[in-house]
Amino acid sequence: MWQERRAMNILVLNCGSSSAKFQIIQTDLNMIKEGTERCLASGNCERIGLEEGLVSMKATGKTGIKDLVKPLPDHRAAINAIFEWIESGKAEIEGVNSLKDIDAVGHRILHGAERFVKSTLINDEVIEGITECIPFGPLHNPAQLKGIVACREILGESIPQVAVFDTDFHSTMAPKAFMYGLPYEYYERLHIRRYGFHGTSHRYITNKYAEINNIPVEKVNIVSVHLGNGSSICAVKDGKCVDTSMGHTPLEGLLMGTRCGDIDPAALLYIMETDGLSAKEIDTLINKKSGLLGVSGLSSDMRDLEDAALKDKNPRAQLALDMFAHRVIKYIGAYIAEMGGADAIVFTGGIGQNSPVMRAMTCETLPCLGIELDKQKNEELKRGSAGEISKDGSKVKIYVIPTNEELMIARDVVNCVEKSK
Ligand code: AMP
Repeated sequence: MWQERRAMNILVLNCGSSSAKFQIIQTDLNMIKEGTERCLASGNCERIGLEEGLVSMKATGKTGIKDLVKPLPDHRAAINAIFEWIESGKAEIEGVNSLKDIDAVGHRILHGAERFVKSTLINDEVIEGITECIPFGPLHNPAQLKGIVACREILGESIPQVAVFDTDFHSTMAPKAFMYGLPYEYYERLHIRRYGFHGTSHRYITNKYAEINNIPVEKVNIVSVHLGNGSSICAVKDGKCVDTSMGHTPLEGLLMGTRCGDIDPAALLYIMETDGLSAKEIDTLINKKSGLLGVSGLSSDMRDLEDAALKDKNPRAQLALDMFAHRVIKYIGAYIAEMGGADAIVFTGGIGQNSPVMRAMTCETLPCLGIELDKQKNEELKRGSAGEISKDGSKVKIYVIPTNEELMIARDVVNCVEKSK
Protein backbone atom coordinates (compact mmCIF):
# COMPACT_ATOMS: atom_id res chain seq x y z
CA MET A 1 0.00 0.00 0.00
CA TRP A 2 1.27 3.49 -0.86
CA GLN A 3 2.17 5.43 2.23
CA GLU A 4 2.96 9.13 2.38
CA ARG A 5 6.57 9.50 3.47
CA ARG A 6 7.00 11.89 6.38
CA ALA A 7 9.62 14.63 6.24
CA MET A 8 13.00 14.04 7.91
CA ASN A 9 13.67 15.10 11.49
CA ILE A 10 17.26 16.24 11.60
CA LEU A 11 19.28 16.82 14.72
CA VAL A 12 21.73 19.67 14.06
CA LEU A 13 24.62 19.70 16.53
CA ASN A 14 27.10 22.50 17.07
CA CYS A 15 29.67 21.35 19.62
CA GLY A 16 32.04 24.01 20.95
CA SER A 17 34.93 23.43 23.33
CA SER A 18 32.61 23.57 26.37
CA SER A 19 29.12 23.65 24.88
CA ALA A 20 26.76 21.69 22.64
CA LYS A 21 24.01 23.68 20.92
CA PHE A 22 21.34 21.82 19.00
CA GLN A 23 18.19 22.17 16.96
CA ILE A 24 15.80 19.58 15.60
CA ILE A 25 14.69 20.66 12.14
CA GLN A 26 11.98 19.08 10.06
CA THR A 27 12.77 19.20 6.36
CA ASP A 28 12.98 17.28 3.08
CA LEU A 29 13.56 18.12 -0.61
CA ASN A 30 10.02 19.50 -1.02
CA MET A 31 10.17 21.59 2.12
CA ILE A 32 13.54 23.00 1.02
CA LYS A 33 12.03 23.98 -2.35
CA GLU A 34 9.02 25.59 -0.72
CA GLY A 35 10.97 27.11 2.20
CA THR A 36 8.58 25.48 4.69
CA GLU A 37 11.14 23.79 6.94
CA ARG A 38 10.46 24.02 10.66
CA CYS A 39 12.57 24.14 13.78
CA LEU A 40 10.86 21.68 16.18
CA ALA A 41 13.13 22.13 19.19
CA SER A 42 16.34 23.82 20.25
CA GLY A 43 18.66 23.98 23.22
CA ASN A 44 22.11 24.37 24.63
CA CYS A 45 24.29 22.38 27.03
CA GLU A 46 26.91 24.67 28.56
CA ARG A 47 29.80 24.39 31.00
CA ILE A 48 30.76 20.93 29.70
CA GLY A 49 33.74 19.62 31.66
CA LEU A 50 33.04 21.78 34.70
CA GLU A 51 31.48 20.41 37.87
CA GLU A 52 28.01 21.75 37.18
CA GLY A 53 26.81 21.74 33.61
CA LEU A 54 23.93 23.93 32.50
CA VAL A 55 21.17 22.58 30.27
CA SER A 56 18.34 24.50 28.63
CA MET A 57 16.08 23.15 25.91
CA LYS A 58 12.61 23.67 24.59
CA ALA A 59 10.25 22.45 21.92
CA THR A 60 9.03 25.23 19.64
CA GLY A 61 6.03 26.94 21.22
CA LYS A 62 6.40 25.06 24.55
CA THR A 63 7.87 26.11 27.89
CA GLY A 64 10.74 23.58 28.05
CA ILE A 65 13.44 23.28 30.69
CA LYS A 66 15.64 26.22 31.49
CA ASP A 67 19.00 26.22 33.18
CA LEU A 68 18.82 22.72 34.64
CA VAL A 69 22.06 22.11 36.53
CA LYS A 70 23.37 18.63 35.76
CA PRO A 71 26.80 17.00 35.72
CA LEU A 72 28.17 17.19 32.16
CA PRO A 73 31.66 15.68 32.42
CA ASP A 74 32.08 15.49 28.62
CA HIS A 75 30.33 16.00 25.27
CA ARG A 76 28.89 12.50 25.35
CA ALA A 77 27.12 13.33 28.63
CA ALA A 78 25.76 16.53 27.06
CA ILE A 79 24.43 14.67 24.02
CA ASN A 80 22.98 12.05 26.35
CA ALA A 81 21.15 14.84 28.20
CA ILE A 82 19.55 15.93 24.91
CA PHE A 83 18.51 12.36 24.09
CA GLU A 84 17.21 11.71 27.63
CA TRP A 85 15.03 14.81 27.32
CA ILE A 86 13.63 13.60 23.98
CA GLU A 87 12.88 10.15 25.45
CA SER A 88 11.50 11.46 28.76
CA GLY A 89 8.02 12.06 27.38
CA LYS A 90 8.21 15.61 28.78
CA ALA A 91 9.80 17.24 25.74
CA GLU A 92 6.53 17.61 23.78
CA ILE A 93 8.39 17.91 20.46
CA GLU A 94 5.90 17.59 17.62
CA GLY A 95 6.38 14.16 16.01
CA VAL A 96 9.56 13.37 17.96
CA ASN A 97 8.90 11.15 20.97
CA SER A 98 11.82 8.77 20.84
CA LEU A 99 15.27 8.47 19.28
CA LYS A 100 13.68 6.42 16.48
CA ASP A 101 12.10 9.66 15.25
CA ILE A 102 15.54 11.21 14.55
CA ASP A 103 16.35 10.40 10.92
CA ALA A 104 19.80 11.96 10.55
CA VAL A 105 22.33 14.19 12.28
CA GLY A 106 24.20 17.22 10.92
CA HIS A 107 27.38 18.38 12.62
CA ARG A 108 28.92 21.81 12.34
CA ILE A 109 32.67 21.25 11.93
CA LEU A 110 34.97 24.22 12.31
CA HIS A 111 37.90 23.23 10.13
CA GLY A 112 38.05 21.07 7.04
CA ALA A 113 41.37 22.55 5.86
CA GLU A 114 42.01 21.62 2.19
CA ARG A 115 40.75 18.09 2.76
CA PHE A 116 37.00 18.89 2.83
CA VAL A 117 35.54 21.37 0.37
CA LYS A 118 31.90 20.36 0.72
CA SER A 119 29.50 18.77 3.18
CA THR A 120 29.92 15.04 3.37
CA LEU A 121 28.32 11.89 4.79
CA ILE A 122 30.37 10.71 7.75
CA ASN A 123 32.18 7.37 7.60
CA ASP A 124 35.42 6.10 9.17
CA GLU A 125 37.51 7.84 6.53
CA VAL A 126 35.79 11.18 7.16
CA ILE A 127 36.31 10.79 10.91
CA GLU A 128 39.99 10.18 10.20
CA GLY A 129 40.09 13.29 7.99
CA ILE A 130 38.47 15.51 10.63
CA THR A 131 40.96 14.09 13.15
CA GLU A 132 43.82 15.08 10.83
CA CYS A 133 42.41 18.63 10.76
CA ILE A 134 42.66 18.94 14.60
CA PRO A 135 45.92 20.96 14.46
CA PHE A 136 44.00 23.61 12.45
CA GLY A 137 41.05 23.75 14.87
CA PRO A 138 42.51 22.49 18.17
CA LEU A 139 39.62 23.69 20.37
CA HIS A 140 36.65 22.87 18.16
CA ASN A 141 37.44 19.86 15.97
CA PRO A 142 38.04 17.49 18.95
CA ALA A 143 34.73 18.52 20.58
CA GLN A 144 32.91 18.07 17.28
CA LEU A 145 34.48 14.64 16.80
CA LYS A 146 33.27 13.67 20.26
CA GLY A 147 29.77 14.71 19.15
CA ILE A 148 30.01 12.47 16.08
CA VAL A 149 31.25 9.46 18.05
CA ALA A 150 28.60 9.88 20.77
CA CYS A 151 25.80 10.07 18.19
CA ARG A 152 27.15 6.98 16.41
CA GLU A 153 27.25 5.03 19.68
CA ILE A 154 23.84 6.13 20.90
CA LEU A 155 21.84 6.25 17.65
CA GLY A 156 23.67 3.45 15.83
CA GLU A 157 25.64 3.50 12.59
CA SER A 158 22.55 3.15 10.39
CA ILE A 159 21.49 6.75 11.17
CA PRO A 160 23.27 8.95 8.61
CA GLN A 161 25.48 11.71 9.93
CA VAL A 162 26.76 14.59 7.83
CA ALA A 163 29.71 16.92 8.45
CA VAL A 164 29.25 20.55 7.38
CA PHE A 165 32.44 22.60 7.41
CA ASP A 166 32.76 26.27 8.33
CA THR A 167 35.60 26.53 5.85
CA ASP A 168 34.00 24.93 2.77
CA PHE A 169 32.31 28.00 1.22
CA HIS A 170 35.71 29.67 1.05
CA SER A 171 37.41 26.84 -0.85
CA THR A 172 36.74 28.74 -4.09
CA MET A 173 39.22 31.51 -3.18
CA ALA A 174 42.08 31.85 -5.66
CA PRO A 175 45.68 31.43 -4.44
CA LYS A 176 46.23 35.20 -4.75
CA ALA A 177 43.55 35.64 -2.06
CA PHE A 178 44.38 32.72 0.23
CA MET A 179 48.19 32.73 0.24
CA TYR A 180 50.23 34.56 2.88
CA GLY A 181 53.45 36.27 1.87
CA LEU A 182 55.59 33.68 3.67
CA PRO A 183 58.15 31.47 1.94
CA TYR A 184 56.16 29.06 -0.25
CA GLU A 185 57.41 25.99 1.61
CA TYR A 186 55.25 26.93 4.64
CA TYR A 187 52.18 26.42 2.48
CA GLU A 188 53.51 23.13 1.12
CA ARG A 189 54.85 21.73 4.37
CA LEU A 190 52.53 23.14 7.06
CA HIS A 191 49.51 24.14 4.92
CA ILE A 192 49.71 27.70 6.21
CA ARG A 193 47.15 29.70 4.23
CA ARG A 194 43.91 31.60 4.69
CA TYR A 195 40.93 29.24 5.02
CA GLY A 196 38.11 31.54 6.15
CA PHE A 197 35.26 30.68 8.53
CA HIS A 198 31.51 31.39 9.02
CA GLY A 199 31.17 29.73 5.60
CA THR A 200 27.80 28.19 6.44
CA SER A 201 26.45 31.63 7.34
CA HIS A 202 27.86 33.35 4.23
CA ARG A 203 26.50 30.51 2.07
CA TYR A 204 23.06 30.83 3.67
CA ILE A 205 23.10 34.60 3.08
CA THR A 206 24.13 34.08 -0.57
CA ASN A 207 21.26 31.62 -1.14
CA LYS A 208 18.72 33.74 0.73
CA TYR A 209 19.72 36.88 -1.19
CA ALA A 210 19.18 34.95 -4.46
CA GLU A 211 15.78 33.77 -3.21
CA ILE A 212 14.66 37.25 -2.08
CA ASN A 213 15.68 38.79 -5.40
CA ASN A 214 14.44 35.87 -7.46
CA ILE A 215 17.76 35.36 -9.22
CA PRO A 216 19.93 32.24 -9.63
CA VAL A 217 22.69 31.87 -7.02
CA GLU A 218 25.28 32.19 -9.84
CA LYS A 219 24.14 35.80 -10.30
CA VAL A 220 24.76 36.86 -6.70
CA ASN A 221 27.39 39.62 -6.32
CA ILE A 222 27.39 40.81 -2.74
CA VAL A 223 29.52 41.62 0.27
CA SER A 224 28.21 39.45 3.11
CA VAL A 225 28.87 41.18 6.45
CA HIS A 226 28.52 38.78 9.41
CA LEU A 227 28.90 40.79 12.62
CA GLY A 228 28.54 38.88 15.88
CA ASN A 229 30.74 37.80 18.73
CA GLY A 230 32.95 36.46 15.95
CA SER A 231 32.78 38.62 12.83
CA SER A 232 33.79 38.14 9.23
CA ILE A 233 33.15 39.63 5.81
CA CYS A 234 32.94 37.67 2.60
CA ALA A 235 33.18 38.87 -1.01
CA VAL A 236 30.75 36.80 -3.10
CA LYS A 237 31.13 37.04 -6.88
CA ASP A 238 28.89 35.01 -9.18
CA GLY A 239 27.64 33.15 -6.09
CA LYS A 240 31.12 32.06 -5.00
CA CYS A 241 33.46 33.29 -2.29
CA VAL A 242 36.42 35.17 -3.77
CA ASP A 243 37.78 36.57 -0.51
CA THR A 244 37.02 36.60 3.20
CA SER A 245 38.42 38.38 6.22
CA MET A 246 39.18 35.43 8.52
CA GLY A 247 42.40 33.58 7.81
CA HIS A 248 44.34 30.51 8.89
CA THR A 249 42.29 30.71 12.09
CA PRO A 250 39.15 32.70 12.96
CA LEU A 251 41.36 35.45 14.41
CA GLU A 252 42.24 37.48 11.33
CA GLY A 253 40.23 40.41 10.02
CA LEU A 254 37.66 42.42 11.94
CA LEU A 255 37.76 43.48 15.56
CA MET A 256 35.63 40.93 17.46
CA GLY A 257 34.20 40.37 20.94
CA THR A 258 37.49 39.16 22.43
CA ARG A 259 39.69 38.64 19.32
CA CYS A 260 42.00 41.39 18.09
CA GLY A 261 41.62 40.73 14.35
CA ASP A 262 44.28 42.14 12.02
CA ILE A 263 47.51 43.05 13.78
CA ASP A 264 51.15 43.42 12.78
CA PRO A 265 52.63 40.05 13.88
CA ALA A 266 55.87 41.85 14.74
CA ALA A 267 53.98 43.70 17.51
CA LEU A 268 53.19 40.34 19.08
CA LEU A 269 56.82 39.24 18.87
CA TYR A 270 57.76 42.48 20.64
CA ILE A 271 55.21 41.81 23.43
CA MET A 272 56.47 38.23 23.77
CA GLU A 273 60.04 39.40 24.19
CA THR A 274 59.33 42.43 26.39
CA ASP A 275 56.86 40.78 28.77
CA GLY A 276 58.32 37.28 28.48
CA LEU A 277 55.06 35.72 27.30
CA SER A 278 54.86 32.19 25.94
CA ALA A 279 53.12 31.32 22.65
CA LYS A 280 50.18 29.98 24.70
CA GLU A 281 49.90 33.22 26.68
CA ILE A 282 49.96 35.27 23.48
CA ASP A 283 47.26 32.98 22.08
CA THR A 284 45.06 33.75 25.11
CA LEU A 285 45.84 37.48 24.84
CA ILE A 286 44.81 37.81 21.20
CA ASN A 287 41.86 35.39 21.26
CA LYS A 288 40.32 35.89 24.70
CA LYS A 289 41.40 39.26 26.11
CA SER A 290 41.44 41.57 23.11
CA GLY A 291 38.87 42.99 20.70
CA LEU A 292 35.90 44.96 22.05
CA LEU A 293 36.65 43.66 25.56
CA GLY A 294 40.33 44.54 25.50
CA VAL A 295 39.92 48.00 24.01
CA SER A 296 36.94 49.05 26.16
CA GLY A 297 38.06 47.30 29.35
CA LEU A 298 34.32 46.85 29.93
CA SER A 299 32.66 44.10 27.94
CA SER A 300 32.82 41.99 24.80
CA ASP A 301 29.09 42.48 24.26
CA MET A 302 28.01 45.11 21.73
CA ARG A 303 24.83 45.96 23.66
CA ASP A 304 26.86 46.85 26.78
CA LEU A 305 29.23 48.97 24.73
CA GLU A 306 26.49 50.84 22.88
CA ASP A 307 24.90 51.65 26.26
CA ALA A 308 28.23 52.71 27.77
CA ALA A 309 29.20 54.86 24.79
CA LEU A 310 25.85 56.43 23.97
CA LYS A 311 24.26 56.78 27.42
CA ASP A 312 27.28 57.09 29.74
CA LYS A 313 29.62 58.72 27.17
CA ASN A 314 32.37 56.29 28.10
CA PRO A 315 35.33 57.21 25.82
CA ARG A 316 36.89 53.72 25.67
CA ALA A 317 33.55 52.15 24.78
CA GLN A 318 33.21 54.79 22.05
CA LEU A 319 36.73 53.98 20.81
CA ALA A 320 35.85 50.27 20.63
CA LEU A 321 32.73 51.06 18.57
CA ASP A 322 34.69 53.39 16.28
CA MET A 323 37.42 50.81 15.73
CA PHE A 324 34.84 48.10 15.06
CA ALA A 325 33.06 50.22 12.42
CA HIS A 326 36.36 51.43 10.92
CA ARG A 327 37.50 47.87 10.14
CA VAL A 328 34.14 46.91 8.66
CA ILE A 329 34.24 49.96 6.37
CA LYS A 330 37.80 49.13 5.33
CA TYR A 331 36.90 45.57 4.33
CA ILE A 332 33.69 46.55 2.51
CA GLY A 333 35.67 49.09 0.46
CA ALA A 334 38.45 46.62 -0.25
CA TYR A 335 36.09 43.87 -1.35
CA ILE A 336 34.04 46.10 -3.61
CA ALA A 337 37.28 47.19 -5.29
CA GLU A 338 38.47 43.57 -5.51
CA MET A 339 35.20 42.41 -7.10
CA GLY A 340 34.98 45.39 -9.46
CA GLY A 341 31.64 46.36 -7.87
CA ALA A 342 28.80 44.62 -6.07
CA ASP A 343 24.99 44.71 -6.21
CA ALA A 344 24.47 44.79 -2.45
CA ILE A 345 25.97 44.56 0.98
CA VAL A 346 24.13 42.29 3.41
CA PHE A 347 24.31 42.60 7.19
CA THR A 348 23.83 39.53 9.36
CA GLY A 349 24.91 38.03 12.74
CA GLY A 350 23.82 39.21 16.20
CA ILE A 351 25.16 42.74 15.66
CA GLY A 352 24.43 43.03 11.93
CA GLN A 353 20.84 41.86 12.42
CA ASN A 354 20.05 43.79 15.56
CA SER A 355 22.10 46.96 15.81
CA PRO A 356 20.86 49.90 13.73
CA VAL A 357 23.55 51.95 15.51
CA MET A 358 26.43 49.83 14.18
CA ARG A 359 24.85 49.52 10.72
CA ALA A 360 24.61 53.32 10.54
CA MET A 361 28.20 53.75 11.70
CA THR A 362 29.52 51.29 9.11
CA CYS A 363 27.56 52.91 6.28
CA GLU A 364 28.53 56.49 7.15
CA THR A 365 31.27 56.96 4.54
CA LEU A 366 29.96 54.47 1.99
CA PRO A 367 27.88 56.88 -0.17
CA CYS A 368 31.16 57.50 -2.07
CA LEU A 369 30.79 53.90 -3.32
CA GLY A 370 27.12 54.34 -4.20
CA ILE A 371 25.99 52.66 -0.96
CA GLU A 372 23.34 54.89 0.63
CA LEU A 373 21.59 53.98 3.86
CA ASP A 374 17.99 55.03 4.47
CA LYS A 375 18.17 56.09 8.12
CA GLN A 376 14.48 55.60 8.77
CA LYS A 377 14.32 52.12 7.21
CA ASN A 378 17.43 51.21 9.19
CA GLU A 379 15.85 52.30 12.49
CA GLU A 380 12.45 50.84 11.76
CA LEU A 381 13.44 47.39 10.48
CA LYS A 382 11.90 44.89 12.90
CA ARG A 383 14.49 42.84 14.84
CA GLY A 384 14.86 39.37 13.41
CA SER A 385 13.31 40.21 10.05
CA ALA A 386 14.88 40.54 6.61
CA GLY A 387 14.59 43.75 4.64
CA GLU A 388 16.21 46.34 2.43
CA ILE A 389 17.45 49.43 4.24
CA SER A 390 19.06 51.44 1.42
CA LYS A 391 17.71 54.67 -0.07
CA ASP A 392 15.48 54.21 -3.10
CA GLY A 393 18.11 55.39 -5.61
CA SER A 394 21.10 53.68 -3.95
CA LYS A 395 23.31 52.13 -6.64
CA VAL A 396 24.41 49.36 -4.28
CA LYS A 397 21.57 48.05 -2.12
CA ILE A 398 21.85 47.41 1.62
CA TYR A 399 20.03 44.44 3.11
CA VAL A 400 19.62 42.89 6.53
CA ILE A 401 19.12 39.11 6.37
CA PRO A 402 19.07 37.09 9.61
CA THR A 403 21.42 34.15 9.22
CA ASN A 404 20.37 30.56 9.88
CA GLU A 405 23.37 28.26 9.95
CA GLU A 406 21.39 25.39 11.49
CA LEU A 407 18.91 25.42 8.62
CA MET A 408 21.76 25.41 6.09
CA ILE A 409 23.26 22.39 7.87
CA ALA A 410 19.90 20.57 7.87
CA ARG A 411 19.54 21.24 4.12
CA ASP A 412 23.01 19.83 3.49
CA VAL A 413 22.04 16.71 5.45
CA VAL A 414 18.97 16.20 3.24
CA ASN A 415 20.98 16.72 0.06
CA CYS A 416 23.80 14.37 1.13
CA VAL A 417 21.36 11.67 2.27
CA GLU A 418 19.28 11.93 -0.93
CA LYS A 419 22.41 11.77 -3.11
CA SER A 420 23.59 8.63 -1.33
CA LYS A 421 20.37 6.73 -2.11
P1 AMP B 1 26.23 36.38 17.74
O1 AMP B 1 27.63 35.94 18.05
O2 AMP B 1 25.91 36.38 16.27
O3 AMP B 1 25.19 35.68 18.56
O4 AMP B 1 26.13 37.92 18.17
C1 AMP B 1 26.38 38.33 19.49
C2 AMP B 1 26.56 39.85 19.48
O5 AMP B 1 25.37 40.48 19.00
C3 AMP B 1 26.84 40.41 20.88
O6 AMP B 1 27.90 41.35 20.81
C4 AMP B 1 25.55 41.14 21.19
O7 AMP B 1 25.75 42.24 22.02
C5 AMP B 1 25.11 41.60 19.82
N1 AMP B 1 23.70 41.99 19.83
C6 AMP B 1 22.62 41.22 20.00
N2 AMP B 1 21.49 41.98 20.02
C7 AMP B 1 21.89 43.27 19.87
C8 AMP B 1 21.21 44.54 19.82
N3 AMP B 1 19.90 44.62 19.94
N4 AMP B 1 21.96 45.65 19.66
C9 AMP B 1 23.30 45.58 19.54
N5 AMP B 1 24.00 44.42 19.58
C10 AMP B 1 23.30 43.29 19.73
